[in-house]
Amino acid sequence: MKFKKVDLSFQSCQSEYDEASVVIFSVPMDATTSFRPGTRFAGNAIRVDSIGVEWYSPYRDRDLKQYKTADIGDLDLPMGDVEQALKVVYDTTEQILKDNKTPMMIGGEHLVSLPVIQAVYKKYPNLHLIHLDAHTDLREEFLGRKLSHATFMRHVHHFVGDNKIYQFGIRSGDKHEFVWANSGHINMRKFDFEGLDKTVAKLKDVPVYITIDLDVLDPSVFPGTGTPEAGGMQYKDLLWAFDQFEKLNNIVGADIVELAPMLDPSGASTAVAAKSLRELVLILQKQLENK
Ligand code: MN
Ligand code: MN
Repeated sequence: MKFKKVDLSFQSCQSEYDEASVVIFSVPMDATTSFRPGTRFAGNAIRVDSIGVEWYSPYRDRDLKQYKTADIGDLDLPMGDVEQALKVVYDTTEQILKDNKTPMMIGGEHLVSLPVIQAVYKKYPNLHLIHLDAHTDLREEFLGRKLSHATFMRHVHHFVGDNKIYQFGIRSGDKHEFVWANSGHINMRKFDFEGLDKTVAKLKDVPVYITIDLDVLDPSVFPGTGTPEAGGMQYKDLLWAFDQFEKLNNIVGADIVELAPMLDPSGASTAVAAKSLRELVLILQKQLENK
């Protein structure tokens, strides 16, 4: 599989694939979205609007231009065929990892994180996950489907096992999901990010994948998403979370998912996602530098 540089890239992330240490790709899929669709448009909306985000982050005191980051664009997916689309995502991630690069995925609905995490797990069997989300995503099945954005983390649990998944900001789900999570399966922090610093201290040197469902943010901050859930986090809370992630030594992949740009015509949600992506790329690059 060969990956080419795309004409429309995120910010200054225009390195050739072969020379890059971090590879951005986006997955234009919202096939199992249960409420309002539109996340398939997130990747390119973020790329277009990234012109409004500075390359330099005053939070990290680092600049995207300092690093080799490739952006290989939207993956070509067989629309309507969920299993086959997930396989394309898996194969892409596996190739990026084989080439010793770190994947940075843009969703898409949250289900597209599943094949990315499967590929990362294959390389790093001691994988731990930090999952920021308004929703548990722990259903065994949803509306008769096993593969859904409401079930994806349950599927991740099937292979990573107990006490590998750390959820924060959770405020919505079925009662059974909360009961199951709290029966020794998932480390779940409801409503906010309290304890994330302690989790990061504990996971400092083990392989960690970070998955951020942007609906963890309050709808007043981030209305452009399919299932907005009131009572969420402020952007400054997310910036604090990024400061914590910066202390991890072994982040082996990350994603941001569930932006549906057309649901926020003001463009603010897309700007929020673009800024978050900049911070994550800078965090991934720094810890590679330290290795
Ligand atoms: Mn989710
Ligand atoms: Mn969610």
